[in-house]
Amino acid sequence: MIDRPDSIVIGAGMSGLAAADALHREGRTVAIVEASDAVGGLARSIIVGGEPIEPYYHHIFPQDHETRDLIDQLGLSGQLEWRTGPMAVMHHRRTFPFDSPLDVLRFSPLSVLERIRLAAATGVQLFRPDRAHLDRTPVSIDGPRWFGRRGYETLWRPLLEAKFGEHADTIAMAWLVARIRQRGGARKATGDRLGYLRGSLGALAEACTLIRRMWTEDDLFDFGGRHYQLRGAACEPKPVQRPHPPFVIGAGGERSALRVVAEQADIWNCPSRTAAEFRHKSRVLDEHCAAIGRDPAEITRSIPVLVPPGTRRRPAPCSSS
Ligand SMILES: Cc1cc2nc3c(=O)[nH]c(=O)nc-3n(C[C@H](O)[C@H](O)[C@H](O)COP(=O)(O)OP(=O)(O)OC[C@H]3O[C@@H](n4cnc5c(N)ncnc54)[C@H](O)[C@@H]3O)c2cc1C
Repeated sequence: MIDRPDSIVIGAGMSGLAAADALHREGRTVAIVEASDAVGGLARSIIVGGEPIEPYYHHIFPQDHETRDLIDQLGLSGQLEWRTGPMAVMHHRRTFPFDSPLDVLRFSPLSVLERIRLAAATGVQLFRPDRAHLDRTPVSIDGPRWFGRRGYETLWRPLLEAKFGEHADTIAMAWLVARIRQRGGARKATGDRLGYLRGSLGALAEACTLIRRMWTEDDLFDFGGRHYQLRGAACEPKPVQRPHPPFVIGAGGERSALRVVAEQADIWNCPSRTAAEFRHKSRVLDEHCAAIGRDPAEITRSIPVLVPPGTRRRPAPCSSS
């Protein structure tokens, strides 16, 4: 902890971290105060099945210049992937594609007239001249006026509620119009592709290396990784298992996660649902092992078998190959 920082940033969400980074680049010493036990705020990551994912969906639009500049400055541009992000709306447990005006016209929970009004009003939002005033207009008032009450209640309101909860009705119409324009702009700029930062599996690989060293080395050591930096690291007493407890990694991502499994795991837990999928992922793991010169037989392979209570069917045998 810095004793007397030049600046203090409250909150380690994306805004706080970006502000701290900008201050640091200006040569200031910065302390960040974060109330929770994780950094990243709404855009933090959690590990699920060995892969980092965000608790809330996030993507980067082509016109998000500030975010893209920051990614550049941090040297992460190589990790930014542009992928097609198809959208769908779930209504009464049925999903409806929602990528084009044609999809709006096919949205059968509404009558034909309601669909035409919804599609036309959504298109008009792209060209509204009165956008300057929309900051003060709640979507719950302006939305039904444009999209029709049923169009608003059936399509937009559930989406707003999912995102903003009890505040859904007080959100400004400007927000919704900006989202419609942003998505329309993305379609024009990249053929509807959206940017995603590839998950940082490097952190998992580094953590495994670091932990293995702490479990096995007697002397204090320094570790200067990209994600973790330690000085004079040690772990005493050492674990009872020799040479160290096995690393069990549950992962299925073929390009990056299985590479980490090949490099680090003693036991691999493959999240496959079918024997064919297990065999396929197993082959991919073999290829990663061959690429780094590791004997694939050193890695014990396992799968989770889920048996719902009361089921009479036997799970398909997966682990034989
Ligand atoms: C469902 C959903 C989807 C989204 N999708 C996208 C998207 O696709 N693209 C996009 O660009 N944006 C998206 N966003 C918006 C994006 O997540 C936010 O704009 C961004 O993460 C906000 O960052 P922030 O740092 O301003 O705030 P936050 O992420 O809220 O961070 C604030 C931080 O401050 C901490 N804090 C609060 N009070 C204190 C205190 N008193 N002391 C110390 N710490 C404190 C909090 O614990 C938190 O870590 C989405 C948001 C949601 C909810």
